[in-house]
Amino acid sequence: MSPRREVLGPAAGPAAGPAGGRTATGANLPVLAPEEPAAQRTVDLAATDGDETVETGIRPRRLAEFVGQSSVRSHLEVVLEAARRRGQPVDHLLFAGPPGLGKTTLAGIVAAEMGAGLRVTSGPALARGGDIAALLSDMQPHDVLFIDEIHRLNRAVEEILYPAMEDYQIDVVIGKGPAARSVRLELPPFTLVGATTRTGLLTGPLRDRFGFIETLELYSRAELGQIVHRSARLLGVACDDAGAAEIARRSRGTPRLAIRLLRRVRDYVEVKGDGIISGPSAREGCAHFGVDELGLDGLDKRLLHVLCVGFAGRPVGLTTLAMSVGEEPETIEDVYEPYLVQSGLVMRTPRGRVPGPAAWTHLGLPDPALADPGLADEVGAARQDERLPTLFAEG
Ligand code: ADP
Repeated sequence: MSPRREVLGPAAGPAAGPAGGRTATGANLPVLAPEEPAAQRTVDLAATDGDETVETGIRPRRLAEFVGQSSVRSHLEVVLEAARRRGQPVDHLLFAGPPGLGKTTLAGIVAAEMGAGLRVTSGPALARGGDIAALLSDMQPHDVLFIDEIHRLNRAVEEILYPAMEDYQIDVVIGKGPAARSVRLELPPFTLVGATTRTGLLTGPLRDRFGFIETLELYSRAELGQIVHRSARLLGVACDDAGAAEIARRSRGTPRLAIRLLRRVRDYVEVKGDGIISGPSAREGCAHFGVDELGLDGLDKRLLHVLCVGFAGRPVGLTTLAMSVGEEPETIEDVYEPYLVQSGLVMRTPRGRVPGPAAWTHLGLPDPALADPGLADEVGAARQDERLPTLFAEG
């Protein structure tokens, strides 16, 4: 990796491992549905090369074009305006949330709104202290440095960032052995924008150095519908309201998936239909690519099968669940669960994960908690605490 490149490609997100391609390693763990092929999943949240090319063209560049996340937007409006009036760089910002919700986009918006340059890199790409030192010393005043997966920075790099963030200074060591000496470098004032799946993954000292921490929420269907319409316009494909709504409801609350599904449906209507995305053609297109009406694909369905059939609805630990479907626990927690939990398909309880009532309905199975008072006691209390599914509500 050359730290002098203007835009350093973001490394793959937590979902970048073989999606569904691995075999469960745990003895006697139920694997109830066949493994998916290792091919790119339509609903994989991580950006693919194809996504990055398309996303560059349709990424909102201004705050006003950014759909949804109203509280983040209104906070940012104030922070940006205050920095503009003072003629200072924006305070360091941290965005948390699952992949594909707009963290990179917001970093670009901060730079554009401030008329500043943007550098993009990621935690895993910064292997040595020298990488970050070279990148920082090459910045222009008020530039924005975006570090994706900032929780994956190594210790040496993180320690260079502390004084850089606080005092715009870094100490670099020149030479080796007894002749080595430390030199203090003044940096231009800059803004660091970090992205992570969960703020809890950052070390305390790093987290404390951000002046503004925001967690992005999954998008509502109406917001995703707006994003589909906007992206369809920019991609030059005709899409009516019903078509946009069908794509939105299958997008797991995630703009990246909405845009990817839109592209697949566009392929479908161009080859099999009249080139126009309508309600029926969007439904057919999604079904053709194996995305069901809730946006669930093979791995989600395997998860639900393991919970409902393999463990008969009893609480399952995260590690066991992850092994049963051949995924990493972190990937299950950060990538799959946010949507499954928010849509009422999975519930997190202190004793483990249990299927929500919606999971039984979705799989067409009777909910045993309704018939078995023992099981009802075990999972019922947890269910009462869960918030009602919000994604399924229109609007
Ligand atoms: P993240 O960095 O969180 O993984 P990105 O910023 O790369 O997500 O966003 C993924 C895609 O979704 C981009 O193409 C971006 O244009 C689009 N997108 C994300 N959030 C929004 C939004 N609020 N409005 C419109 N498009 C969005």
